[in-house]
Amino acid sequence: MSAKTEYRYNQLTWPEMNEAIAMQKVVLLPVGSTEQHGPHLPLETDIYLAEQVCLEAGRRAPERTLVLPPVSYGLNLHHIDFPGTIHIEPEVFIAFCLNITKSVAYHGFQKMMVVNGHGSNSPLADLVARKTTLQTGSLCAAVNYFSFAGEAYEGLRESDILAHADEFETSLYLHLAPERVRWDQAANGNDVEGQYVSSDSTSNYPLRFSDYWGRWTKRGVHGEPTKATAEKGRVLWEAAVAGLVGAVAEWHTWPIAARSDQHAGPVQSGIRW
Ligand SMILES: [Zn+2]
Repeated sequence: MSAKTEYRYNQLTWPEMNEAIAMQKVVLLPVGSTEQHGPHLPLETDIYLAEQVCLEAGRRAPERTLVLPPVSYGLNLHHIDFPGTIHIEPEVFIAFCLNITKSVAYHGFQKMMVVNGHGSNSPLADLVARKTTLQTGSLCAAVNYFSFAGEAYEGLRESDILAHADEFETSLYLHLAPERVRWDQAANGNDVEGQYVSSDSTSNYPLRFSDYWGRWTKRGVHGEPTKATAEKGRVLWEAAVAGLVGAVAEWHTWPIAARSDQHAGPVQSGIRW
């Protein structure tokens, strides 16, 4: 094994890490949650799916991809009424992830990507990427792995609501790890749909709102897992992996231009934000 073929960050030695830095691999940080996913899916669902997509992208393009160990916890207080869910305060999550990306930048990697699997982490992952870019000499982007499979899902979907432990996530699980799906426990959730607000994660409802899920559902499911199939999961998986492989290729060659400063006089460059 060498830096050319190894795509898992923590499997390299420090001399091999110098090679990986010289290759300017794109460093992926999978983030997700330890969160209830109804009676039919395990709590690992969000981080398992995000990490697997990252690892497969690494397998397919090891020469430009390096996958960090995942952050398996996220913003989850809204799921706390269901046993097992772990909550991290958003400020703590952002600070923790930023310490990781800044460490990676310190060593000399110039391109990073936060690959998120938990919808509620999205705004936090965006801020981690922005802060990394603004506070270091490196570039960091953020993406939800499931966004790469959105178009494919539109051609497959048989349920109205896409949200949680639903047709989408259950299909991916049936494709990747069917032995961990408690299929006899899969049942549709009682969705909340108004004109301006909904438990759906994708439609264009103007109000962004997530209540305590203990108010919304007794199963911990929004969507229709009974419409899930392994074949749908295979299509979604291929779309997600192909999307990430393509994004990494583009990000790998994305230029870092010199900033142009338009001030007529000196600035206080010592200020730390
Ligand atoms: Zn999920």
